Amino acid sequence: MAALPAESPSSAAPPPSSAPAPEWRALTGWGRTAPTVAQVVSASDEASIREALTMAGERGVIARGLGRSYGAPSQNGGGLVIEIADDGSRAVGEIVIDEQAGTVTAPASVSIDTLLKVLVPAGWFVPVTPGTRLVTLGGAVASDIHGKNHHVDGSLGNHIESMRLLLADGTATDISPSVQPELFWATIGGMGLTGVVLQVTLRVLRIETSRMLVDTQRCPDLDAVCAAMAEGDADHRYSVAWIDLVATGRHLGRSVLTRADHAGRADLAKSAEPFAYHPRVLAGVPPLVPDGMLSRWSVRAFNEVWYRKAPANRSTSVQSIGSFFHPLDAVTSWNRLYGRHGFLQYQFVVPFAADDVLRHVVERLANSGASSFLAVLKRFGEANAAPLSFPMPGWTLTLDIPAARAGIGRLLPELDELVLGAGGRHYLAKDSHLTAADIRRGYPRLPEWRQVRDKADPTGLFTSDLARRLELVG
Ligand SMILES: Cc1cc2nc3c(=O)[nH]c(=O)nc-3n(C[C@H](O)[C@H](O)[C@H](O)COP(=O)(O)OP(=O)(O)OC[C@H]3O[C@@H](n4cnc5c(N)ncnc54)[C@H](O)[C@@H]3O)c2cc1C
Repeated sequence: MAALPAESPSSAAPPPSSAPAPEWRALTGWGRTAPTVAQVVSASDEASIREALTMAGERGVIARGLGRSYGAPSQNGGGLVIEIADDGSRAVGEIVIDEQAGTVTAPASVSIDTLLKVLVPAGWFVPVTPGTRLVTLGGAVASDIHGKNHHVDGSLGNHIESMRLLLADGTATDISPSVQPELFWATIGGMGLTGVVLQVTLRVLRIETSRMLVDTQRCPDLDAVCAAMAEGDADHRYSVAWIDLVATGRHLGRSVLTRADHAGRADLAKSAEPFAYHPRVLAGVPPLVPDGMLSRWSVRAFNEVWYRKAPANRSTSVQSIGSFFHPLDAVTSWNRLYGRHGFLQYQFVVPFAADDVLRHVVERLANSGASSFLAVLKRFGEANAAPLSFPMPGWTLTLDIPAARAGIGRLLPELDELVLGAGGRHYLAKDSHLTAADIRRGYPRLPEWRQVRDKADPTGLFTSDLARRLELVG
């Protein structure tokens, strides 16, 4: 099956030189459900990643970044996992900004956190950032991440000039929208299954300051927030609504809508340092958190406070990059709050015309008591050319659900049916419960992607727990 010497992990010969020996370890995604044990080896430069590939046995290999996917795309039970996350000074030294071209070239092992620490003081910003800066570039490409600016800028893949990809046969190849375009687009959103991304060149955004001008308004219900977004999103680069999914009845879908743009120099006090960037961590969650801390009662109390905290009347404020884009990063290991059973994240998109389905899903969730801290609603713009890219024009809703919540085994398939029936789909980077049939309905271009992938990896070296469950490969 594997393109490289097919030895079982346990009988693999001791690896030579640069890559350290793999170790058996239990891994989970950010949701901390479904742990599996794999041989894990750390490698970040091209030579050691190539060498690590040779350690793969019959259960194949998958790359892992910072493990911020919620489910199992960077797990490979019984096989090999190559951890590719290097935020040491070596990687920082390899981040190269081309001021003339407006691009940055960086190893795939670098996190968006590190990238921002280099880019922002130089007056540049990443074209797309997710709700956490603690993801690697490689992980971001493999998921084709979207941000609060999708309605204006699209997803990460839209901004990639070129990439260097390590293939199953150990050769590295440079790909771009004009050089091997099929492999390029199959790698974007391809969940690490076409090869290992080694390096990425991204077009970046010029900024005048490191602050955001944020417009905040409360919306009393779902109709009000949808109307406000449909009318006004085009006027702002960034837009997101945080919905109180505990509220029911006439308050169903009450939200806080925040929309923002990068602040100009004139928006800051004269004495302010325009490119100051010092994201802070305020607290950490201890390893052992008692189960049941997130009861329906505590989530209700939190959501009430959070809604009331937003100004009753629309207002504008200047905020830092960290507090607007990455508020959750202020609390390290917040995923432990869900206790030992963990949680899953549910994210779907439905076409704009299916706004009745959105209402139905919100209603069903609110009435089911599937407690979620703030759920997030966004409007996606145009899709890109990647067959497995998640975003398409429509409404996307994201929420956390404790994995031990009674009845989710019945509730989720019911919601899936609504979403898929409306021509929508679910986000692979967040998924932990869908079936292979669901994915085929949501991603009709999957066979096209499979053809490209199978050509790039004819012996099926790259695989993962997610790929096996959803029959993406094999
Ligand atoms: C708090 C939080 C907020 C989030 N908000 C958003 C959001 O707003 N928008 C959004 O789109 N996503 C969001 N995400 C999801 C996150 O952006 C993605 O899951 C991202 O891919 C995680 O990157 P990672 O480095 O942790 O990769 P991992 O989770 O380790 O791996 C993810 C995938 O990338 C592949 N991969 C990793 N490195 C490489 C490489 N070098 N070459 C090839 N493949 C590789 C893996 O094989 C796997 O398939 C959020 C996650 C969290 C925890």
